[in-house]
Amino acid sequence: MNSFDVLILGAGIIGCACARECAQAGLKVGIVEVNIPGGGATAAGMGHLVVMDDSPAQLALTRYSRSLWQELMTQLPPTVEYENRGTIWVAADEEEMAEVHAKQNIYASAGVDSIVLDSAAIASEEPELRAGLAGGLLVPDDAVIYPPTAAAYFLAEAMQHGALLLRGHAAVKTGTGVVTLDDGSTLTSGRIILATGADKTILPWLPLQKRKGHLAITDRYPNFLRHQLVELGYLKSAHKITEDSVAFNIQPRTTGQLLIGSSRQYGNEYAAADNAILREMLNRACNYMPALAHLSAIRVWTGFRVATPDKLPYIGPTEDPTLFLAMGFEGLGITNAPGAARLLADEFLNRQSEIDPTPYLPSRVARMEVAHG
Ligand SMILES: Cc1cc2nc3c(=O)[nH]c(=O)nc-3n(C[C@H](O)[C@H](O)[C@H](O)COP(=O)(O)OP(=O)(O)OC[C@H]3O[C@@H](n4cnc5c(N)ncnc54)[C@H](O)[C@@H]3O)c2cc1C
Repeated sequence: MNSFDVLILGAGIIGCACARECAQAGLKVGIVEVNIPGGGATAAGMGHLVVMDDSPAQLALTRYSRSLWQELMTQLPPTVEYENRGTIWVAADEEEMAEVHAKQNIYASAGVDSIVLDSAAIASEEPELRAGLAGGLLVPDDAVIYPPTAAAYFLAEAMQHGALLLRGHAAVKTGTGVVTLDDGSTLTSGRIILATGADKTILPWLPLQKRKGHLAITDRYPNFLRHQLVELGYLKSAHKITEDSVAFNIQPRTTGQLLIGSSRQYGNEYAAADNAILREMLNRACNYMPALAHLSAIRVWTGFRVATPDKLPYIGPTEDPTLFLAMGFEGLGITNAPGAARLLADEFLNRQSEIDPTPYLPSRVARMEVAHG
């Protein structure tokens, strides 16, 4: 029987980041992956490393995680395609410009650099944007990566430090310190990290909901776009819990391609693209960047974000003292992977964490159930 200090279930970017962090700390790590490492939501995501300020806890984790990505920057292989592109939050009108100033104040209070752009400045930063936008907020230290290769890099680093990848079987059950696989075999570990993304087999009662998203990628158009652009309305759409929504969100790739998003749908668990919402998403993008209408999109796909009721991930111990969660990262799992991994390693090694881990603890679930009636 295989026995580990830490056994991680799921080799998405979260599981792989946890594996790297724990193996580098000298722990004996195993990773169980039923399918392809980095092939789940991680392969479907956009790869925007972004500081988000929905809540103080979200701001703390995204800021911390972005700083860990920055520390890694020089070690990342070229395949990860890390580019310090910066984000521009695009303000369409004066009402959104007021949000730009409010956002800048929040970022400033958290020590996150940002620069207010007026109408002329945003046009000069991104000439393909439609004329007459009110301005925007440039966050220069946000970056862009290619998520599947980032997961592969974390996994390779973990394996170099002795981690063992166990591929081809699903974990179906956990007991105290024991994991049962779908072939009936068992693995033992003092600590088990559940990082199975959207798969709730192990804890079916855990409050998690899928939010389907569409992305489209274009042919190569080098120099069309310089920054990751997101409409300020994205925040409004990300807040909506029940309605389908689209928002202008576009990312430059190192290949010269443009990755265009994004949509959010609840209650649609079909992986197939939904033409109506896709059309709405692309029309929205063309509304902000009219020249997009003349470019060729070469592929469209969907993926599922996995959301918690309070939009913060579950990171930390459960009532079973051997079972830990790293789930529910919604649209920020690529950004937050290094921060989540570091918080869990801190817990295992009795280290003081650099940010307060309390807001992400799974123990809040009971309180949320009460709060939601
Ligand atoms: C359209 C879209 C755009 C996004 N854009 C961004 C972005 O720009 N920036 C950002 O930060 N985030 C973004 N995200 C979110 C991000 O992709 C996810 O939060 C992140 O990939 C989640 O990683 P994960 O490791 O938790 O899950 P996954 O990548 O899904 O990995 C889970 C793994 O567990 C395995 N698994 C499942 N069940 C079992 C089992 N029982 N036993 C063994 N293995 C199992 C799966 O095969 C899979 O490999 C986006 C997501 C979508 C859908």
